[in-house]
Amino acid sequence: MHIKILGSAAGGGFPQWNCNCRNCESLRAGTFAGKSRTQTEVAISSDDCAWFLLNASPDLRLQIEATPALHPRNAGRDSPISSVLLTSGDIDQVAGLLSLRELQPFRIYCTPSIRRILQEDNSMFAMLNRVPDQVSWIDISCDGRFSLHGERGVGVDCDVFSLGDRFPAYVSHERIASLKPEEALLGAILTSSSGKRLAYMPAVPDIDDSLLRRLDEADLLLFDGTFWSDDELIRVQGGGSTAREMGHVPISGAEGSLRKLAGLRGPRKVLVHVNNTNPVLDESGPEYAEVRAAGWEVAEDGWSFDL
Ligand SMILES: [Zn+2]
Repeated sequence: MHIKILGSAAGGGFPQWNCNCRNCESLRAGTFAGKSRTQTEVAISSDDCAWFLLNASPDLRLQIEATPALHPRNAGRDSPISSVLLTSGDIDQVAGLLSLRELQPFRIYCTPSIRRILQEDNSMFAMLNRVPDQVSWIDISCDGRFSLHGERGVGVDCDVFSLGDRFPAYVSHERIASLKPEEALLGAILTSSSGKRLAYMPAVPDIDDSLLRRLDEADLLLFDGTFWSDDELIRVQGGGSTAREMGHVPISGAEGSLRKLAGLRGPRKVLVHVNNTNPVLDESGPEYAEVRAAGWEVAEDGWSFDL
């Protein structure tokens, strides 16, 4: 299985348009010891023929253009992108679907709750279904196995499970009352034809024993690296929400991901969905050194892996 990281930042990207935090300011000034990043996006393929997108970031058009494997191959209208798996309804995970509206057939796999939010409450997504043979929406259970399939090429086996019950802030209270909380946020384990496993979870609110068991069996882990500390945004903005209130377990601290996942034996561990305020982006800083010493890598746009 080929895995390409098209984007590795959290919502807003790095630098973020309205942010002048230490990271964003010094990146713009050319004095930052680290790299810019687009919003998190991953593409996978078993055969280099059909490609599957894990979510659809707002930067998707540029990310596709930066990745020759995702360019059209046949004359006229064509794309090797067969399917999109949505793990949540967050704007930075679904807005890119609107960049795929040019009458190209593909499939979207998501829970019924996420499909209803997008299709029934957000009329712009009807542009994906202007003609009969355009996008197919496929409901998936929030706890089960299915195969990501395209019209062409080989599929990828996918196990999903619920990671949380928080729907995006743009979803109304009335709508949330009609949805299943366990369908709000998924983790995904994607298995290659050789039996190797990719665990993909760019948003993790909490780490429990059942999650630890799943992650221990993975060969590559792409994990929520949004915030270094729980109060990171509050310190930068002077107010707002903690990392945990936003549904992201922080990297540092006694209950942070670095310590909680320190005992994993199986996977290569990579942080994705890194917020522009996160000090791990600074490769000259102590936080970056601490993460690397603990066996983690900080994903960069353009990285690829084979499983
Ligand atoms: Zn910033």
